[in-house]
Amino acid sequence: MTDGRERLTIGFSPSSRPRSVDRGADNTRGRLFAEILTAGPLSRTQLAQRSGLSQSTVTKVVNPMIGAGFVTETGEQSGSIGRPQRLLEVAANRRAAIGVKIGPGAVTGVLTDLRAQVLDQRTRPLTAGHDPSAVLSAAAAVVWDLLAGHPKAREKLIGVGVGLGGHVSAAEGRVVRSGVLGWTGVEVSAPLAAATGLPTVAANDVDALAVAERWFGAGRGVDGFALVTVGPGVGCGLFLGGELVTGSGGLAGELGHIPMLADGPECTCGNRGCLETLASDDAVLRKIAADGGGYAAIEEAVAAARNGDSRAAAAFGAMGEALGRGLATLCNLVNPGRIVLAGERADAFDLFGDACTRAWRAHSFSTAATDCELIIDATDDSLWARGAACLVIRDAVGADQP
Ligand SMILES: [Zn+2]
Repeated sequence: MTDGRERLTIGFSPSSRPRSVDRGADNTRGRLFAEILTAGPLSRTQLAQRSGLSQSTVTKVVNPMIGAGFVTETGEQSGSIGRPQRLLEVAANRRAAIGVKIGPGAVTGVLTDLRAQVLDQRTRPLTAGHDPSAVLSAAAAVVWDLLAGHPKAREKLIGVGVGLGGHVSAAEGRVVRSGVLGWTGVEVSAPLAAATGLPTVAANDVDALAVAERWFGAGRGVDGFALVTVGPGVGCGLFLGGELVTGSGGLAGELGHIPMLADGPECTCGNRGCLETLASDDAVLRKIAADGGGYAAIEEAVAAARNGDSRAAAAFGAMGEALGRGLATLCNLVNPGRIVLAGERADAFDLFGDACTRAWRAHSFSTAATDCELIIDATDDSLWARGAACLVIRDAVGADQP
């Protein structure tokens, strides 16, 4: 988000970037916070060495973070040359954040500390469709539910991060378009901030999850990785060259909508034959039904496939084959060193993994697949909301990049 193009156009559309435009300082703060978070406790000297910054710059950037309660000094480093130095670590308990994931079936919220460790979780089902005001009311209610259980957390709260599927303008806090929710041009941050009285940021849920993976998960300590999510849809977040890649309009990594099949099944985006129509939960259920079987829920299909139902097993094989071709496309385009496969259906990799890996390797150019390590992250649903909490932590610290 700090490319030259944005700097050139910002004078013509100031509303597109309501927050600070001093991205250089923000980036440095964010980088140092991420270093302290993922590698701390660290001395200022160690932080300077790891970040490639001078020690005076480190001190200048870190001291306000200490003053703001994001970082704290702890213990001393002994045995080094010169006088012992205080160590820096994230002040996990001095501040709190709330992350909210708006999914098609439910709104899930988590209260976290500054390390995005989950302190509590609340869920409200979305049983009456996806009318924006009803869904945002449910999101506000989840925030209130969490605060009701933790009245002392309010004074420590830095804000609310919201993650949801689709094209989200993070700068404007607005959904441009979400196929899964059926929304076009829906304000998210402003109404939620008004309803809760808390600063609120919104972003694409997979981008938020990529920040969580970068900070706490399988993306920790590596220069680049691609996060691919499978489940109700197919999502992708790209963290390359030390930065989350969002693209000029926030649409980078829309792997789920690469065109795979002419005249294929209709997609939530309005096109036909997107990867998502072949590699999602619905695709599996549709294939089983087309083969003469039938399950109402994907969990039933997973259980059946594991119990030897050949139609269900074949459907997961077809899903894996399509996903593998999608991964090959991703590898041929950006040649990542690591792919993290996460999302609700990652834990069914035993059912689709063989077909996926075969197709991935077969369709990858030269060494694009063998250059890449595949890591399965079958963590629970709360990770999505935890990713959303990372959004607001990142913003509060002044980090433009994780
Ligand atoms: Zn599509």
